[in-house]
Amino acid sequence: MVNQNVVVPDATTGIITVSTVSNSSVFTPSAQKPPTAPGHISISKKKLLKSLEINGDQSQRLNSWVDSMRASSPTHLKSLPSTSSEEELNSWMKRHPSALDMFERIIEASRGKEIVMFLDYDGTLSPIVADPDRAFISSKMRRTVKKLAKCFPTSIVTGRCIDKVYSFVKLAELYYAGSHGMDIKGPTKGFSRYNKDKPSVLYQPAGDFLPMIDEAFKQLVEKTKSTPGAKVENNKFCLSVHFRCVDEKKWSELALKVRSVVKNYPTLKLSQGRKVFEIRPMIKWDKGKALEFLLESLGFDNSSDVFPIYIGDDRTDEDAFKLLQERGQGLGLLVTKFPKDTNASYSLQDPLEASTYTNIRTC
Ligand SMILES: [Mg+2]
Repeated sequence: MVNQNVVVPDATTGIITVSTVSNSSVFTPSAQKPPTAPGHISISKKKLLKSLEINGDQSQRLNSWVDSMRASSPTHLKSLPSTSSEEELNSWMKRHPSALDMFERIIEASRGKEIVMFLDYDGTLSPIVADPDRAFISSKMRRTVKKLAKCFPTSIVTGRCIDKVYSFVKLAELYYAGSHGMDIKGPTKGFSRYNKDKPSVLYQPAGDFLPMIDEAFKQLVEKTKSTPGAKVENNKFCLSVHFRCVDEKKWSELALKVRSVVKNYPTLKLSQGRKVFEIRPMIKWDKGKALEFLLESLGFDNSSDVFPIYIGDDRTDEDAFKLLQERGQGLGLLVTKFPKDTNASYSLQDPLEASTYTNIRTC
């Protein structure tokens, strides 16, 4: 068996990793199965795909999921050869410079235009933590967002349900687009400085799916309870199966369990975020559509005098970055420490930099 360095472009998270692997597949057929290396996934590819009854594009997708699950693991990230990752990062940073370094240029581009802020929550306003119920926003970040909302219409756009994210953020003056934009709510009456004469925004494009999502939630809880560390979260219009506390050896087994539930619901789709599987209605709605809806609600649908700024760290935020690119308006900022394929123009390293950036953006 020959060990070699391979470049793994991760289709799901966009992370490019270089790691040393053996020349046998991670999913080596059981007949030639080598001893399982620590951290490797023990199920065979053939068996996995057979159980999932998927092939072609879908099997490629599953492979890329499992690759990205592994690539986003801190242990794998730490094992990146430093020279290679540094070169990769430098070249990526030339294409997506730090928003902090480009501040003057951004100010110039937004001059004379109404800024509208859109902020993802996990990984952008709060750090990614082991327990998703403890992804608290810091007091400093809350003060910054509060200040921001005094100057510009400000929305939180998140995969979480509104109630959950509100319990963290606790700011009544914000717009909230929860469940990946499928549950949109305006500021609490009396708190909005915008559209005072209009009724508060409320939009739920997937309202009919609620009973089905609740049923799938119960099945996922039942199915995954035997996987230590797995946590199923009901985000109202979206279900999240977190695997950040699951042993890496159990990841593909968990993927199989999740898939076996989701395949009973042909109108629900399964995707992967940062250490999380997400299950949501198969409707043409995403964070980009939510951004478009909110701009329209604020009266900017046909306006050229608007400058939307969207800050996010996840693959699901790419829909919003893409929309801004297509509209040729505003800009997307990706929060990341690693090179990723992205439609965002600029980058920020972490929630601290996002806080610094939003702080200096306030009037
Ligand atoms: Mg996020």
